[in-house]
Amino acid sequence: MVISKEAVLAWIRAFAAAVEQHKEYLTELDAALGDADHGANMHRGLQAVLDRLNGVADRDIGTILRTVGMTLVSSVGGASGPLYGTFFLRAGTAAGTKMELTADDWLQMLEAGIRGIVDRGKARRGEKTMLDALGPGLDTLKASLQEGQPLNEALRRSAEAAREGMEATIPMLATKGRASYLGERSVGHQDPGATSAYLLLQTAAETWTAGA
Ligand code: ADP
Ligand code: MG
Repeated sequence: MVISKEAVLAWIRAFAAAVEQHKEYLTELDAALGDADHGANMHRGLQAVLDRLNGVADRDIGTILRTVGMTLVSSVGGASGPLYGTFFLRAGTAAGTKMELTADDWLQMLEAGIRGIVDRGKARRGEKTMLDALGPGLDTLKASLQEGQPLNEALRRSAEAAREGMEATIPMLATKGRASYLGERSVGHQDPGATSAYLLLQTAAETWTAGA
C-alpha cells in the first residue's frame, strides 16, 4: 500500500472538513484554557488552505504540503498557525518531490513535522499541547511498522494512540502557551491543540485506509 498524491490532497480536505465540523467544540475547549479562538483559528487557516489547494493539486507532495504550511503561517494569528504551519513545512520538505508515499516516507514526514513544532514552540511532551497527541501517534506508528503491521493497521493504531494522548491532556498542568497562564486551574480540561492534532491523524487514518 502506498499513499498517492490524491490521497494526500484528500487528507488535507478531510482535515479541513473535520475542523469545520468540530469548530465550536475546539473553541469551547479553548474557552476553558485560553481565549476561545482555536476552532476559529484553525477553520480560518484551513479555509485559506482550501482556496490555495487546487492551484497546486498537480504538483508534487512536498510542494503541496509546503503550500499548506505557508498558508497556515500567514493566515492564522494564534500560536497554532505557526506551529501547524511549521509541521506542514517540515513534513513537505521531508516528502520532497515524491508523487506517492510509502509507510516509511510517512513515518519520516510525521517525525520531521513534530520536530518542527518542537523547534518552533520549545515545548516537550507532557506540557499539555498538540505534542501530547502527535507524539504518541508517531511512537505507535513507528512501533506498529517495526513489528510488521501493514500500513493501514499502523495508521489506525497511530490515530488511536493520538486519541488516548489527547484524553491524557485532561489531568495535565499546562506549562506552555496561553493555558500556562492559568497555572493549576489548567488541570481538568482537554487541550484544544491536542484535540485538533488528533483530528489531523484521525483523518489521515480514515482517508488512507478507506477501502483497505
Ligand atoms: P492561541 O493560544 O494563540 O490563542 P490557539 O488557541 O489557536 O492559539 O492554539 C492553542 C493551542 O496551541 C494549545 O491548545 C496548544 O495545543 C498549542 N500550543 C500553544 N503553545 C504551544 C507550544 N509552545 N508548543 C506546542 N503547542 C503549543
Ligand atoms: Mg486560543
